[in-house]
Amino acid sequence: MATKYIFVTGGVVSSIGKGICVASIGRILKSQGLSVTVVKLDPYLNVDPGTMSPYQHGEVFVTGDGGETDLDLGHYERFIDIELTRESNVTAGQAYLTLITQERRGDFLGGTIQTVPHLTNEIKSRLTGLAQKSNADVVVVEVGGTVGDIEGLPFLEAIRQMRNEVGRSNVFYIHLTLLPYISASEELKTKPTQHSVKELRSIGIQPDALICRSDTEVTRSIRDKLSLFCDVDPAAVFPMPTVGNVYEVPLIMEDYGVSRILSQTLGLDGSCELSDWSQLVAQMNAAEHEIPIAIVGKYVEYPDSYMSVREALRHAAASCGLKADVRWVHSEAVERDGPDAHLKGVSGIVVPGGFGPRGVEGMVDASRYARDRQVPYLGLCLGMQVMVIDWARDVAGLRCANSSELDPDSPHPVIDIMHGQKGVTDLGGTMRLGQYPCRPQANTHTARIYNQPQVMERHRHRYEVNNRYRESLESSGLVMSGLSPDGELVETAEVPGHPFMVGVQFHPEFQSRPNRPHPLFSALLGQARNTVREGSQLPFRRSKSWSF
Ligand code: GLN
Repeated sequence: MATKYIFVTGGVVSSIGKGICVASIGRILKSQGLSVTVVKLDPYLNVDPGTMSPYQHGEVFVTGDGGETDLDLGHYERFIDIELTRESNVTAGQAYLTLITQERRGDFLGGTIQTVPHLTNEIKSRLTGLAQKSNADVVVVEVGGTVGDIEGLPFLEAIRQMRNEVGRSNVFYIHLTLLPYISASEELKTKPTQHSVKELRSIGIQPDALICRSDTEVTRSIRDKLSLFCDVDPAAVFPMPTVGNVYEVPLIMEDYGVSRILSQTLGLDGSCELSDWSQLVAQMNAAEHEIPIAIVGKYVEYPDSYMSVREALRHAAASCGLKADVRWVHSEAVERDGPDAHLKGVSGIVVPGGFGPRGVEGMVDASRYARDRQVPYLGLCLGMQVMVIDWARDVAGLRCANSSELDPDSPHPVIDIMHGQKGVTDLGGTMRLGQYPCRPQANTHTARIYNQPQVMERHRHRYEVNNRYRESLESSGLVMSGLSPDGELVETAEVPGHPFMVGVQFHPEFQSRPNRPHPLFSALLGQARNTVREGSQLPFRRSKSWSF
């Protein structure tokens, strides 16, 4: 079978869940027995989101091969349960960089480089290249932004050209739009969608299907109207109401017949079997008790910055029969008001990753609070570093201990720049990125949790535990519970005599799946369930699997 391409564009407004819809289409196709890969096209000029602020871009999702990518790749990996590479995120910056590098080399000698055909060819070759490399039956392509954006035009032109290049029967276009609800007249409006489709057609793309996001029910008559005005088969106008649990989206799509329409048009084999997924969703939705878990971060006003952390907590909570009640706690607020004011009553604390000194003292305070009050704690990357800093200051007697990233003048830089990072001047794509091995050490929580001699985890950092201080940290009791295979790098640390206080130099959240919660998050949740906090409504229930 020739590779099939499904292109998903967006219209009307952004942030209406295109990534979730694309991930759900991927899930449906995989549940039909097809092999799937996904690409996110990002029309911005950055080469990757690695140097962008979380406020601009949300989380940077790290792939196993060390790509710093769009957070939508996290949705794809979680929904489809696949492992993607950096090639699944193509930006305008990458395409231009390739072309301009070739031009400087003289590859185009005598020629003029143009948006069409050179830029569009570069975009297309990245899509066909990935299709070939992955050997997938279907490549689902999400075009970032909304139709009408100036910078999106080369990408839309490229996907338009793909229809002729790979054959009309191998291409399917889906347009995702919003139907706004006007409360005065109590109706959903189709006009913005009609305009958006008109805009898309002016570029030469006629959508084969519409996905219509709305907060209220999309009636048959609205679907018929959209079908008529947008020239789309009425059966291919799919409503997508707002749901409480995003993992329901594949089920809703399939109820509206998405796999049938895709299969008919593209000639796909197999029938979609979502019963496992539906069981998973039922389990998530059946959880009655909410367990309060604080995420103490510096970007919490914009929770997209911690997308995978939140999802990993949800997965782990569901597997323990609980619902994670995520409390977003600003580390600067903890710094200002003290931890009691913000952390009282929580059953677990997660301190996630971050860069730069702002708000870090609040994270150190949160770590001290978790240690003193025996609150289960999971530190992710920076969250591990603050745990080590707190221990160094308070237990190992290293006054003013810090990370040299946060205080270059600290007398005790217990966290220091990694050896290979010294002298690095370019900031893009130069951190220690992607999958590296970690060996859990015998008789530690970490070893019991992983129950494997070596694990692979995804990294994104420049700083590490300073080996000059390992001796004093260890002799004061801190347990270096996971090391790199050569023993040179502290990958995980834990506080002894605490029900669960583990810090990891990596980001386990990227490997969590709804059907396979990450063991560290499951361990945190299992232990949090045992911890009855003041103000918590949770009935006391001792976990069998994670009681140490
Ligand atoms: N800023 C720290 C470092 O570079 C932590 C990075 C992170 O949390 N991802 O090591």
